[in-house]
Order: sequence, then C-alpha cells, then structure tokens
Amino acid sequence: MSAVFTQEKFRGGIAADDKYWEALADGEFRLCRCAQCGTWMVPAHYRCGACGSWEQVWPLVEPLGTIYSWTRTRMAFPRTEARADDVPFVTALVEVDGTDGARIFGIVVDTGTAPHIGDRVRGEIRPGTEKSFGYPTIEWQLVDAPTPAPGAGSTEGARA
Ligand SMILES: [Zn+2]
Repeated sequence: MSAVFTQEKFRGGIAADDKYWEALADGEFRLCRCAQCGTWMVPAHYRCGACGSWEQVWPLVEPLGTIYSWTRTRMAFPRTEARADDVPFVTALVEVDGTDGARIFGIVVDTGTAPHIGDRVRGEIRPGTEKSFGYPTIEWQLVDAPTPAPGAGSTEGARA
C-alpha cells in the first residue's frame, strides 16, 4: 500500500502548499499564483507579498525548466534513511518555465553523467511511496539526454 501525504505530512508547515501536493498526487503539476496581481508564490503561502491579497489560483504548469542548482547525495541523512539503498542520487532545483523563476526540487534521472547548471529538464510525476513519506514526487529528466541504460534511474533515485 502506498502512503498518502495527508497521512504523513511533515510537521511545522502551514499547509499552504497542500494544493500542490494534492495536484501532484492527481498527476497534475500546479503552482500557486496570486489571484489578484499574478505573482507566483512558490513555495505557496496564504497572502501575496506583492499586493496583500489572500486569494490564490493554482494553474496547470508545464513541468519544463532549467537546472538552477543540483547536488549528488552520497549518504542517507536522518530524514532520508529510507533512501539508503538509493544513494548516490542527484537532486536538482529547477526554475520552471513561465513562472518568473519559481523553483521546484526533484530527483534527476541518472544518465551516467553529471548534470550542469542551465541544463534543460522535463518533469515526470511519480506517485507517493513509503520512501517519500507518501508525498508524490517530480522526477526531472534531462531534455535531449541519452536514454538511461535499462535498470538505471528510477523513481527513488539512481545508483552509480
Ligand atoms: Zn498579489
């Protein structure tokens, strides 16, 4: 049985981004935007810092963007111990096209080569698992990258 993020929600959040996770669980990539002035609010929050509006909209966004930063994780940290079998894996912070620079984290599918800042990526939504505490994830695939070898890359990261 796969976990559902609402049962495993991280503590300390204000839940403003629940709609992001709900949409992702439904297979849709939606980001928060002010309904009044159109400012993108990522991560989501309840009040727009630009105009003060309390109203948000969650438009569908194409999961396409550019790597802003990335890192290779080589050990399992306390909150990622469930992923110990997956290390090393690469995560990236991706600037999403058409969102004035909104950035979203995700695993990068291993192609056997290191990604570069500025690489173009397309996201694929993956369902929540026990390893992701029930949170669905977005997995970034390098655009025009060579096809991963069979068995390389996965929802849970990739092995070297
Ligand atoms: Zn606003």
